[in-house]
Parts: sequence; C-alpha cells; structure tokens
Amino acid sequence: MLTDDAISKLIKAGEIAKRTLRYVEQSVKPGVGILSLANDIEKYILELGGELAFPVNIGINSVAAHYTPVYNDSGIIPDGSIVKIDIGVHVDGYIADAALTISFNPVYEGLLEATRRSLEKAIEFIKPGVKASEIGRIIENTIKSHGYKPIKNLSGHGIERYVIHSGVIIPNYHDVLNIHRLNNGVYAIEPFATNGVGLVSELNQVTIYSLKAHGRRIPDNIKVFYDKIYSERQGLPFAERWYIKSDSDAENVREALITLKKHKLLVEYPVLVEKGNGLVAQFEHTVIVTQKDVIVTTN
Ligand code: MN
Ligand code: MN
Repeated sequence: MLTDDAISKLIKAGEIAKRTLRYVEQSVKPGVGILSLANDIEKYILELGGELAFPVNIGINSVAAHYTPVYNDSGIIPDGSIVKIDIGVHVDGYIADAALTISFNPVYEGLLEATRRSLEKAIEFIKPGVKASEIGRIIENTIKSHGYKPIKNLSGHGIERYVIHSGVIIPNYHDVLNIHRLNNGVYAIEPFATNGVGLVSELNQVTIYSLKAHGRRIPDNIKVFYDKIYSERQGLPFAERWYIKSDSDAENVREALITLKKHKLLVEYPVLVEKGNGLVAQFEHTVIVTQKDVIVTTN
C-alpha cells in the first residue's frame, strides 16, 4: 500500500522529471558534447531538489540503453542522429523514471511517432487491475501499425522505494505468459521501437554500475570506496565519472571497480545495442496505480 507521504514524494519526483525533460528538449543539439550534456542534466535535477535515481542515459541511434558518458568522454551528438535521453529522479527513494527521443533527421519522425503514440495509448488503457500483457499488446499493435517493431527484450517495470526494477515486467509485446496485473504500485511504461530486428544485445562496454548489499566483511583495500558509494546510493545505479575528479582518480576508481567485481559486490549494466543495428526510439512515463486511480507522475 502506498501512503499519502509516498504518493506526494512520487509526484514531486515526477514533477522534477517532467521539468528536466523540458530542459533536455532545449539542450540536446547536434555538436553538443555528451559529457557536458549529462553533467548539465544531472545538475538541473539536483537544483530542482531531486536526487539522481540513476545516471542520465544518452542513447544515440542504435544504442538503446545503458550508456552514460564516461570520464573525459569526447562523444558529441552527431548530425542527423536520433537521441534518447532517459532520466531517473528520486525524492527520499521515491522514483520517477522518464525518457524521450529527439530526432535530427526528418526521416525518423515516423519511428518517433510510432513510439510516442504507443506510450500514449498504453497509458490511456491503464486502470487498476489491468493486465500487463494487455499493455504489451497495445504497444506492439501500435508500433506495428506504423510499420516498425517493438524491442521485445526491453520492457517496462515495477518500481519500489530505492528499487528501479522490482522484478515486475510490463512487456512491449503481447506476452501471454506475463500474468501480472497492475495494482497498488508504481510502474514505468517504456516502449522501444526500431526499424531493426526488434531485439537488443549487450556490448562488452559497461558505463553504469550498482553495488550489492553485503553480509560479510569487505576487504580493507576497497572498504572506504564501497562504504562511500553504498551510503550515497543504497543499491541505486551510479556512473564511474561521479567518483573521478582527475586522471589519477580514474585509475584508482577503475581498479576499485575491478576489485569489487572480483568480490562479487558489483552489478554491471552493459550497453544495449539493437541487434540489427536498427535505429531505436524510446518514450517513458512513470505511473502510480492505486486501488481507484491512475496518476501519471511524469506527464
Ligand atoms: Mn528509464
Ligand atoms: Mn525504466
């Protein structure tokens, strides 16, 4: 059950996410450096009184998710690209997860429209007790009616306090095996559409991490680093660049991450790319479903 306090914090996080997406629409332009873009977006969230639920994801063209700029990243927004910006805001652990796609090539407008429309239709359809599989069916049918494919192995998800992915899946296709019904909870609805094959695969590259809780002694050589991040993040994802202020830090932080991985204390989120190198669009909103109501916090 969501308390009134939880709902008001979810709404506040949603309001900050909404304002941040408006800022994103004005800031993303070809030629802009993605490192300064990510820093600016994250700073904006903090200035509005939110905290970062995860590092801002910047997905260019066929990169679908899980890329955040790294320390000294020299990437820029390319001419003629499509760019997905996915942001996570939290207020006292209550999370808003939202994303949009911006196109710098009129050829991709149809792909954006298919994705945007599938999210709108899915949200119109949500009511207490609705089946997750039915939401998937609407997303799939809408995207296909525009001539594109949903990405089947990316999905919306349940959200809990300090937990971005609760384990509940809201599919982007008609998954008859998914028997979940939306009730008394928080959910992110996030269709991804593509002109590729409709699947993502993992790259070897990792730019986003989280820490596992531990029930045993942490080796002394990484205890300070682990405790610092865990106390700030409580298991929420982080970017390496957040902890690197100089070239010498970079080496130390990367070594510490390797050590944490060896001790099985690190979760890695590999960069996800469309399997057929198709272009990918994504739109996402967070909704609260109570016993009687549906509140879209990020719209
Ligand atoms: Mn998201
Ligand atoms: Mn999400």
